[in-house]
Amino acid sequence: MLISWTFKCETCGKQNNKPVKLSDSQYDWVCDCGTPNVEIFGSTITTGFKLILRSQYELNEIRDYNLSIVFSAMAVDCELSRLFIKWEKIKSLRDYKLPDGEKIESLLRQYPRISKKLKKVCDILYTEGIQDFFYRNPDIEISLAKLIENFSPKSFYKDIEKNLFWIRNRIVHLGDSSFKHEDAAQCHNIANILLGILNRMDLSKREQTL
Ligand SMILES: [Zn+2]
Repeated sequence: MLISWTFKCETCGKQNNKPVKLSDSQYDWVCDCGTPNVEIFGSTITTGFKLILRSQYELNEIRDYNLSIVFSAMAVDCELSRLFIKWEKIKSLRDYKLPDGEKIESLLRQYPRISKKLKKVCDILYTEGIQDFFYRNPDIEISLAKLIENFSPKSFYKDIEKNLFWIRNRIVHLGDSSFKHEDAAQCHNIANILLGILNRMDLSKREQTL
């Protein structure tokens, strides 16, 4: 899977679009001016972040709205898995145990339903609870309320499931390809906000842990 990425040459400043692999942590390229450029993806460039860029590319460049929705949902799902695995590994190390990757993956499979998986990861990251999170981050509540009809922190997990993952399911389970630009843009924006929520929660957990 490739992600279209815009890099700027460090010598002449020319912008170049390059195909980055999902697994790339570094990208080397040579500009038309002859300068070899090295791009390093830091820890903030997660798989979820790359997938949301692909969703944006499908939305605005290719205009494959259904594929954009699939990538939006996938970005959130991947980020949830990454954070679950990350914090389970840290928990093992804190208990002086070597993390057992297979065991952690089997724990993750206990949450096939996305609303349950989202709740589990939010509970791990932010122990004060989702309502406290929205109380302390009113900007995020306002943003979600603009996108989701009758949004409430109380129904956060179900609202996300219904407004992002049920739409994705119609595409990947039923082959429904009737979604339009406004549907894909809405899913993309919801997924973007969710990645922001998970990032803020992860930062807060890191501050508490370190
Ligand atoms: Zn150049």
